[in-house]
Amino acid sequence: MRPVPELGQAGVDAQDTPLVDGLLGGNRRALAKSITLAESTLPDHQRRSQKLLEALLPHTGRSMRIGISGVPGVGKSTFIEALGVYLIEAGHRIAVLAVDPSSSVHGGSILGDKTRMELLSQRTEAFIRPSPASGSLGGVAEHTREALLLCEAAGYDIIIVETVGVGQSETAVAGMTDVFVLLQLPNAGDEMQGIKKGIIELADLVVFNKADIDPTAAQLAAAQMRSALSMLHPASPNWQPPVLTLSATRKDGLENFWQIIEKFRVALTASGEFDARRRHQALAWMWQQIDSGLRSHFRQHPSVKSELRELSAAVDAGTTTPTAAARHLLALVSRYF
Ligand code: GDP
Repeated sequence: MRPVPELGQAGVDAQDTPLVDGLLGGNRRALAKSITLAESTLPDHQRRSQKLLEALLPHTGRSMRIGISGVPGVGKSTFIEALGVYLIEAGHRIAVLAVDPSSSVHGGSILGDKTRMELLSQRTEAFIRPSPASGSLGGVAEHTREALLLCEAAGYDIIIVETVGVGQSETAVAGMTDVFVLLQLPNAGDEMQGIKKGIIELADLVVFNKADIDPTAAQLAAAQMRSALSMLHPASPNWQPPVLTLSATRKDGLENFWQIIEKFRVALTASGEFDARRRHQALAWMWQQIDSGLRSHFRQHPSVKSELRELSAAVDAGTTTPTAAARHLLALVSRYF
């Protein structure tokens, strides 16, 4: 068996040593450059980036990773900006990353570009990075996860990963964060907000924003959500997801929100679940990488390449079964297994 590479011993390219030093020193430009390297599709950049990540891994893991999801317009950027400024004033350093599936599909982005959170982006204690704009959701999530680790190495102790309430992006974000927050509107019907049971089950905390518009409606919506949650299986045996109301524009409820996040951390750390979740996420991540690696090798295999189109057409036309086609294609690479 070949030895498993040990972390921290991988030598980074000489040209990247200043990047490591700058990043560990908390330099935002070095951090941005390292993330760009991680997002690049050039094989040489990928190689350098992997070395960089391996060398930096011992400096990661010391942040609170917070996932925030909600439909466009719910107030995610307003909330994150207000929370970010509040936390900076309490002495923290904040990084905001995004997983936006729309940015990879048509180049546009539901989450918008850097001009969001203008106030927060002017603070030196904050680092804001929009969603990577290329690749599948899996690719976007992979780059965001790497960016998250790089931000930790650069000394950001609170990392917020933002996503929109469409597609599978919530699962990806819940799979890379410690606590998953669902932002909701008090007055919209469930179907309007795209709330699916599966997404609510991911939530460690549900927040009704814009409570200033109609406080009574917000309280009612929160009570309804509480009773819905009590009938579901909670994501954690050690935590019943609280439901709260706040107003991001009035900065009303931020302190309460943060106290609940702290309580969550204490409760899950005491039960051992905090670390267990991270270990579980790391293993799940390894398997996702294996799955995507195998799939890409499979697609590039010369025999598969030459037969894939014809067999896909046959499945499409109903002249062969999906099972028969899959078996035939897998048999072409079976000697590797
Ligand atoms: P995002 O698409 O989820 O990032 O939502 P934005 O943060 O861009 O907010 C959408 C709109 O809702 C903006 O016009 C905000 O000013 C407004 N908004 C956000 N939070 C609140 C709030 O707490 N109360 C009220 N009344 N409006 C809010």
